[in-house]
Amino acid sequence: MPESHHDQSVCAGCGGVFTCGMAAGLARCWCEDAPPLKAPPHENQSCYCPECLKKLLAEERLTSG
Ligand SMILES: [Zn+2]
Repeated sequence: MPESHHDQSVCAGCGGVFTCGMAAGLARCWCEDAPPLKAPPHENQSCYCPECLKKLLAEERLTSG
């Protein structure tokens, strides 16, 4: 089992490693700048990386009109 760093999160979408400001203990996170997803990841999963979040938001915008 690889050593996990508390300041890094694994994307629920692509499995890529990224840094979440919240998990890293920062006062702010980039995800606060993005609108909330209508379909957030499963409760037990971490959030999405910036790339996947961007993609998902674009898809939601397309499907919701
Ligand atoms: Zn991702």
